[in-house]
Amino acid sequence: MSHRKKYKKYQKKYGHGAQVAVPAQDHFLLEVLRRAEKHGAKAGHKTVRKALKHAEHNGPNLSEAEVEELYAAAERAGAAAALLAARKMLGKNLGHGELPPESMSTGHAPMATVDPRQVPPAGYVPGATQASERSRGHHLQGMGQHVLTIKRIEELSPEMVRIVAGAPKLAGYRPNSKADQYVKMYYADPALGLVPPYDLKALRQTLPRQQMPRSRSYTIRWVDEAAEELAIDFVLHQDPGSAGAWAAAAKVGDPMVISGARGKFTPRSKSDYFIFAADEAGIPAISSAVAMLPENAQGVALLEIAGPGSEFTIPHPDGVELRWLHRNGEAAGTTDLLPQAMRALPQPSRNTAVMAHAERSAAKAMSGIASSWGLDKKSVHIYSYWTLRRAKIRH
Ligand SMILES: Cc1cc2nc3c(=O)[nH]c(=O)nc-3n(C[C@H](O)[C@H](O)[C@H](O)COP(=O)(O)OP(=O)(O)OC[C@H]3O[C@@H](n4cnc5c(N)ncnc54)[C@H](O)[C@@H]3O)c2cc1C
Repeated sequence: MSHRKKYKKYQKKYGHGAQVAVPAQDHFLLEVLRRAEKHGAKAGHKTVRKALKHAEHNGPNLSEAEVEELYAAAERAGAAAALLAARKMLGKNLGHGELPPESMSTGHAPMATVDPRQVPPAGYVPGATQASERSRGHHLQGMGQHVLTIKRIEELSPEMVRIVAGAPKLAGYRPNSKADQYVKMYYADPALGLVPPYDLKALRQTLPRQQMPRSRSYTIRWVDEAAEELAIDFVLHQDPGSAGAWAAAAKVGDPMVISGARGKFTPRSKSDYFIFAADEAGIPAISSAVAMLPENAQGVALLEIAGPGSEFTIPHPDGVELRWLHRNGEAAGTTDLLPQAMRALPQPSRNTAVMAHAERSAAKAMSGIASSWGLDKKSVHIYSYWTLRRAKIRH
């Protein structure tokens, strides 16, 4: 069907309502452009997802921020390209004079005017991700965010706190019961007085980038659906504006805003042996994984922490040794304690599961070691959980 015919059909269906504020043809064209933009963004997202999957074991070990940046840039580029193509095509069919001006909003963020290479704000949450969460059937509250209230704060070690938050029916949050279950935690500068859930799309139009709510990934340490509570363990590195600083300043009664559940890995319980490795950021996920193991499981967990005074209780089967690695005054992310300890392990049998989450360089080194063991790739899950910014090391 030609574009003209499609427009006639559309006009018949929608074009006569008093509520239509723009001429029906513009309305139709805007709808076409809006869809092009949306599908272009989705295509960009899909391309990056495929590329990352392909590179999972051999490619560069990207940090979470870099992955987000990649998704955001690809979505913007995809949206801009699709929008341009749609305008060209419609222009050819209808005549360029009949197209709505570029300045007329498609109802989306003004993607076409954004430089696709522009680095997105730290709190950028791609619309496509929210949409896919909805389509997975999650009951999401407000803007794809669940707003809970902080009930308790427990000190696990001088560097880590557990924040327990709750809400009736967990504000719609549905656990996915994976060992690495995690969420995006959204936080905003309290001085701005923003009330969650945050309408990121609308805020992006009005707030300067540095004031946008931010989001960071955090593991759901446990969920108690009966008590309507869940817990997240935070590393208290206190760089200004960071989620770590937010956790250090959090108080009972404050809101805790999280996305739907993500994460997909649980070590196969039938593995002969389990190797875990993590620094503080990865310890919550490792703790959850260890708690899920059968009672007779055998293995070792290499856990990097600041020093002997920072060890804390992690329930584990007797056959899984917790081996604490102390940085003894070195800054997090600057040692090779984890790869060293992993390299020192005897060659594991092929049916061994490996789960490791740490700073980017350590994760990359551990990934190389695990590859050299020749294990089944499906049993190996090694991820960079954060990236050390060297300029910020303070001795
Ligand atoms: C799937 C997933 C699950 C995660 N789960 C947890 C979790 O349960 N608990 C947790 O604490 N973290 C977890 N992390 C790591 C957390 O998302 C990152 O540490 C994140 O960068 C923290 O954001 P920020 O705003 O505090 O710091 P950023 O703004 O990202 O960085 C600011 C500065 O802090 C430094 N920095 C960042 N993280 C750390 C750190 N962990 N230790 C020391 N310095 C740091 C950076 O080098 C930089 O200089 C997880 C990450 C992923 C990908």
